[in-house]
Amino acid sequence: MVETHFDSDETPTASPQLSNKELFDAAKTVIPGGVDSPVRAYGNVGGVPRFIESAGQALVRDVEGQIYVDLVGSWGPALLGHCHPEVVEAVKKAAEAGLSFGAPTASETRLAQAVQERVPCAEKLRFVSTGTEATMTAIRLARGATNRDLLVKFAGCYHGHSDSLLAEAGSGVATAGLPGSAGVTEGTSKDTIVIPYGDTEALRAVFEQRGNEIAAVITEAAPANMGVITPPEGFNQAIREITSEHGALMIFDEVLTGFRVSPSGYWGYEALGEKAATNPSCSIAAYTPDIFTFGKVIGGGMPLAAVGGRAEYMDLLAPLGPVYQAGTLSGNPLATAAGLATLELATPLMYERINSVSSVLRSNLAQTLQAEGVPFAINNAGNLFSLFLGEAPAEHGVHNYEQAKAQNTDAYRAFFHAMLDEGIYLPPSPFEAWFVSSAHTDENVGAILDAFGPAARAAAQAL
Ligand SMILES: *Cc1c(COP(=O)(O)O)cnc(C)c1O
Repeated sequence: MVETHFDSDETPTASPQLSNKELFDAAKTVIPGGVDSPVRAYGNVGGVPRFIESAGQALVRDVEGQIYVDLVGSWGPALLGHCHPEVVEAVKKAAEAGLSFGAPTASETRLAQAVQERVPCAEKLRFVSTGTEATMTAIRLARGATNRDLLVKFAGCYHGHSDSLLAEAGSGVATAGLPGSAGVTEGTSKDTIVIPYGDTEALRAVFEQRGNEIAAVITEAAPANMGVITPPEGFNQAIREITSEHGALMIFDEVLTGFRVSPSGYWGYEALGEKAATNPSCSIAAYTPDIFTFGKVIGGGMPLAAVGGRAEYMDLLAPLGPVYQAGTLSGNPLATAAGLATLELATPLMYERINSVSSVLRSNLAQTLQAEGVPFAINNAGNLFSLFLGEAPAEHGVHNYEQAKAQNTDAYRAFFHAMLDEGIYLPPSPFEAWFVSSAHTDENVGAILDAFGPAARAAAQAL
């Protein structure tokens, strides 16, 4: 079942004699919480995080030699699974030519062109290293373009960890149950207006009051950091209309959804529909944001992200315009090589595979939970999906952050650990999406379906 990748004598074994627990204890003495990104610490589900040693296709192996079917996928980048040979080859080749130059390279232009073929309204792009930088730049750009200060965001949407975006953010902020973050000044907080996701009336009301002060509305194309929320019909379009009426910009954060839910991201999936794969043209789109942000898949597992949009705005960036932005490692040649190889392999057929696996998992999960009498809601936005356990989600559905917080996290904890015991690696938080890759084989899918039964029974007991 497992590729020779794991069997090879050459596979480096970082620390053969140390267990996950020993490594976690050691990590905690030198790294806060033992991790470099909070959700990895298993705070919400308890237990000891698995220290991953290697991965191949849809499998990850921890330092104790346990192999898991992976539904985290590095939180999104592993669209093709781990270590796709062509991606690895591209990175190796780039590495042999030099790790970083701090000078322009041809592959940045090629990647920008590849993105533009899929999302033509990203007329110009600037590459950065993280999604956080991309959204931060997008906001600075919107403020520079409009000469306005205020930013509107939706509760539960996560846009990275820059100061102005941490108010009522999703992802790790949600997992930790925090309203925001210490260390963010009052001045910064007061420039961010937070309203409930999906609430067009609240958005209109905010614009009626302060429309001429609002630089931009930032939204996740489809929220996937408070669990997955399906955008209500017409909501993204309403954001477009309201911002246009008031001279504010629409920032569409596709860091997670971009190149995952369709070749043209969620914008393609929703605003273009069938045409997303064959004819991604802006002129036929139901709506077009001013600025997009991309990350995760665009770097194929390497640190890469991008901000892109209408040329008239993008050209405000230095060196052409007055909005400053820079980065020593921006557009790194290894990262752009990985991104290009990944996008080349992300064919319509590949998306079909991911969509069909996602749909099999969702329907089987629903059947199993029903059979075991576990109340739940499963939300999806294209092939992205997540599970909310408990009476409240089952009764009212989950359409916003308040409802996402009303799920039963104890039940997820039990569900998560039962899945882990069965060899399935889920996100260690109920506020995260499940990530399917095109490397998930039928056998991997079978293993996941087999694990749903015990996991559903564990959840039933916890309720
Ligand atoms: C992951 C994510 C970010 C932040 O990206 P990083 O690379 O982790 O900084 C921003 N927006 C969304 C929607 C994300 O999912």
